[in-house]
Amino acid sequence: MFDLSFDAKIIDTPGIKGFGVVDMDKYELGDYFPEFFKLKQHCKFNDCLHLKEPKCAVKEALQNEEISWSRYKSYLQILEGEEETEHYRTDIWNEEDNE
Ligand SMILES: [Zn+2]
Repeated sequence: MFDLSFDAKIIDTPGIKGFGVVDMDKYELGDYFPEFFKLKQHCKFNDCLHLKEPKCAVKEALQNEEISWSRYKSYLQILEGEEETEHYRTDIWNEEDNE
């Protein structure tokens, strides 16, 4: 079902901005992250992007440290390639990333 080598490439590649040009539906992006995919069914919205949506199971798992922030950041970075002007960063990073 999932191409895990592709998945591994996502975390290992610093310059993943290029993924933005790949013709990938942003709503499918989460499906390439197996742990996000599993949680997605628990999100309130079927088309949840796990950004600002309320009752998002992925963000709850992040808060509970059930999934890693580096994975979530990789996800966001790829998503950013598609979305040019979203301001979701500020309320998502919160205390986990104070750099
Ligand atoms: Zn979600």
